[in-house]
Amino acid sequence: MTGPMTDTRPLDSATVLDWFRQHGRHDLPWQADATPYRVWVSEIMLQQTQVSTVIAYYQRFMQRFPYLQMLAAAPVDEVLHLWTGLGYYARARNLHKTAQLLCQAHAGEFPGSLEALEALPGIGRSTAGAILSLGMGQRGVILDGNVKRVLCRYYAINRWAGETNTLKHLWQLAELSTPATNVAHYTQAMMDLGATVCTRSKPDCTRCPLRSDCQALANNQVSSLPVSKPRKTLPVRQIYMLLCHQQHQVLLQQRPDKGIWGGLWSLPEFSDMDTLQAWASIHHARPEQNWPVTRHTFSHFHLDITPVPAIANAVHIAEPQPGLCWYPLDHSVKLGLAAPVKKLLQQLYDDRLIPRSPDKHSTSLL
Ligand code: SF4
Repeated sequence: MTGPMTDTRPLDSATVLDWFRQHGRHDLPWQADATPYRVWVSEIMLQQTQVSTVIAYYQRFMQRFPYLQMLAAAPVDEVLHLWTGLGYYARARNLHKTAQLLCQAHAGEFPGSLEALEALPGIGRSTAGAILSLGMGQRGVILDGNVKRVLCRYYAINRWAGETNTLKHLWQLAELSTPATNVAHYTQAMMDLGATVCTRSKPDCTRCPLRSDCQALANNQVSSLPVSKPRKTLPVRQIYMLLCHQQHQVLLQQRPDKGIWGGLWSLPEFSDMDTLQAWASIHHARPEQNWPVTRHTFSHFHLDITPVPAIANAVHIAEPQPGLCWYPLDHSVKLGLAAPVKKLLQQLYDDRLIPRSPDKHSTSLL
């Protein structure tokens, strides 16, 4: 790590601002009419997700929920449905919860202090800083993934940014470098610099406004910084998912609010084949040949899913119990689905429900 804070000079924000005027991004959808609400939604979507992916999701979301009050009044299932494919679904549930809280306790307005913003579900220090600076024109400080990378290289931080002390040090550097004025442009400039010049795998130092002072460049450490998270082997969990179907419908089960895919609709899930067979027999469903195992990787484990299709007896499962529903494969009911489940439903549709002919292409209904 670099020396104590007293020895550290702030990054040259004037140079960064000059660069931004010419080379920054000025036409992202959330930059037009940058209200705290619009900035907040974009920031939450951008956590863990690239701008190019977020744009279409953001536009759909804003079309449906142009105002905070509309988001607060919507059923959470509809919010999760619009989030399907973005992953990390706790973000969507927190978005909905926070919209309701703001309507109940803050008259539908965002509070104007860092502490009050950070007290809201799903809003961390960096997101709060972005709402303050980009949405309210106040001096807010951010430290998202892009800014962390730029700072780790500029100051040649030789420790993993996730370590408590390193993170604390990075926040100090971010605070130190953020100017007192023009903060919205500076915030956007730093995000743009990380996203377009000081990129993860191919930083283009020749185009960088910080190259004359960058310590990683001076020490020939650009390719080795930032330091990666220490690797550990991810454990593997095995589950069986039952694709119990009848008449263009498939049986879905709602997941508990907590845990992976919290609150989303998924396929009935079993830890082994015997339990699946027993459940199927009680419900008069007839399991068929398993499909090949498909792997979904979370940040902390791999999930190996064995999909098991089964023909249901419509008479016996006509009225499913609470927490279960028949989902029409024409997607006419809007539910939040986990990405691998969405893929399996498409596969079921392709394999079983479309009459096959050599020149017929599959039609996506999901
Ligand atoms: S000079 Fe290179 S490594 Fe340093 S901040 Fe700029 S792009 Fe990143």
